[in-house]
Amino acid sequence: MSLDRDVVGELETIVGADHVRTGRGDLEPYARDATPLFRGVPDAVVSPRTAEEVAAVLRLATRTGIPVIPRGAGSNLSAGTLADRGGIVLVLTRMDRILEISPDELLARVEAGVTTAALGEAAAAKGLLYAPDPGSRTVSTVGGNVATCAGGLRGLKYGVTRNYVLGTTAVLPTGEIIRTGGRLWKDVAGYDLTRLLTGSEGTLGVLTEITVALLPMPATTNTGVAYFPTLADAGRAVTAVIGDGIVPATLEFLDAKCIGAVEEYANLGLRLDAGALLLFGDDGAADAVERNLTRIGELCTAHRAMEVTLAADVARSDALLAARRCSLPALSRLGTLTILEDATVPRPRLAEMVGRIDEIAERYDVPIATFGHAGDGNLHPTCVVDRQDDAAIERAHKAFGDVFAAAIGMDGTITGEHGVGAAKLPYLEARLGADQMALLRRIKAAFDPAGILNPGKLGS
Ligand SMILES: Cc1cc2nc3c(=O)[nH]c(=O)nc-3n(C[C@H](O)[C@H](O)[C@H](O)COP(=O)(O)OP(=O)(O)OC[C@H]3O[C@@H](n4cnc5c(N)ncnc54)[C@H](O)[C@@H]3O)c2cc1C
Repeated sequence: MSLDRDVVGELETIVGADHVRTGRGDLEPYARDATPLFRGVPDAVVSPRTAEEVAAVLRLATRTGIPVIPRGAGSNLSAGTLADRGGIVLVLTRMDRILEISPDELLARVEAGVTTAALGEAAAAKGLLYAPDPGSRTVSTVGGNVATCAGGLRGLKYGVTRNYVLGTTAVLPTGEIIRTGGRLWKDVAGYDLTRLLTGSEGTLGVLTEITVALLPMPATTNTGVAYFPTLADAGRAVTAVIGDGIVPATLEFLDAKCIGAVEEYANLGLRLDAGALLLFGDDGAADAVERNLTRIGELCTAHRAMEVTLAADVARSDALLAARRCSLPALSRLGTLTILEDATVPRPRLAEMVGRIDEIAERYDVPIATFGHAGDGNLHPTCVVDRQDDAAIERAHKAFGDVFAAAIGMDGTITGEHGVGAAKLPYLEARLGADQMALLRRIKAAFDPAGILNPGKLGS
């Protein structure tokens, strides 16, 4: 379907003709996000500059029944910005002003299109920390992070995006501009709409401004690495660390396949004879960091670690963290199609879950390597195949269906941080049950009676 000329004219009046694109070449880059195999060409790409412009676009869409798909950087891994029914992709990246960083109130106020890294740097310039740190932070937007409730490498100690969202300005599909929450740490007036919008994946409202909590910048950070014969040993060490009362900032793992791929890609000097690698890091006062990392090292050794090393300096600490951050590009080189998945299980069942994933991969004859956030029980099983090999892609999808079923069977979930989008929707009812699915749809209908905002995703 293409948009009526009158509708295009109205859009141009709202945001300016330069900010409405309808040419085939202009639309193609918005046909995909970072999720492989999902493609849907929109009818228009519209880039508003203000909440009022967003409201006018949404009023027009509700009146005419045209789908609107909010989009930040398009870095999501769940087909969350898929325009498979055509319509308008509403790109928020022109709304990129940092409005306020307040050291006195420990908060920042930003427009939705500000990148996560830009917010982090602006906060750091004032001696403050914006804690959420998704691996995509140089490109991802704060609006996209809030809409997906993004996690990251510091989730264990610091939590995820939802723990930092104090308030939002959001535009409802019917055009009302609402302000939820605000500058307050304590505010229980009404249903917690800030939390409801956080993680709503662009299906309930378009976020235009966000107020986030900041923390004082920790004085020091350091990182260590422990190699284990098996991932089960690493899993037991993680349980022992938490049981010892230590909550480190970072506790990440790579399985043997990831270690090999990362070493070949980045040449970091990792040991290739290990079954698993655990990266641990902490931040805070120098003596506390040293004490915690030393103790974690002792606990790893007590749980069969083959080697434990603490980074001697910041450069080595950064190199170790790079081992985790480059897992995805390293694995992606092994084929032409990378399917990065996301599931979470209770922390003590992490190693058991990786074992199940290995069994499933063998059964379906697809290569799956797994890395992730050991501290959160959040795993990223990643399958790399040949883009032309339809049979292997089909087997990979079936394998991931079994992986999600296994996660649910362990009291886990089908996505810990990447979101449901269009990609995970077929698995959602198995996680939530029919009654919750029906409630989700009623909530969606209350916000979006015409069903125009990001259709075919959550709440559909
Ligand atoms: C290399 C790589 C590493 C990654 N690492 C992590 C990680 O560590 N942790 C993690 O959680 N994720 C990670 N991701 C996934 C992704 O970056 C996050 O989901 C991120 O929050 C998406 O931000 P975005 O600006 O790209 O949003 P988009 O991809 O544009 O949109 C994501 C969702 O949010 C909605 N949305 C976007 N902006 C708005 C808005 N202003 N108002 C309402 N809805 C909106 C969209 O409709 C869509 O449903 C990674 C992705 C890549 C490619």
